[in-house]
Amino acid sequence: MAKCPRCGAVLDWAELIEQMLTIEGVEEVLQDKGKFMETFESFVFKCPRCGEEFYGRNLSSKEAEKVFELLNEFKGSIDWENHKVKLRINSLLALETMLEGWDRKVRK
Ligand SMILES: [Zn+2]
Repeated sequence: MAKCPRCGAVLDWAELIEQMLTIEGVEEVLQDKGKFMETFESFVFKCPRCGEEFYGRNLSSKEAEKVFELLNEFKGSIDWENHKVKLRINSLLALETMLEGWDRKVRK
């Protein structure tokens, strides 16, 4: 789970991506993994809990990559007009982690 590097609050990925939706040309950025990761790492996010700002590179890039894939996998995951992410990213990430753990157990 993504956590605020300042106060340790659990962050909602959907909310983080929503903060990025104001970038110019963001539709293109969200379709290109390289561009997305580059933009993500240098983007200044603001923690909704403590209000402190931090760079995306302080968060897990592995999770960011997964978020990118989820956003591209599900059509209509972003409501461009209202700058809203309609996908429950945190739930999907948790589910995926759970399934990975289960997969490892089964294979042993
Ligand atoms: Zn914080």
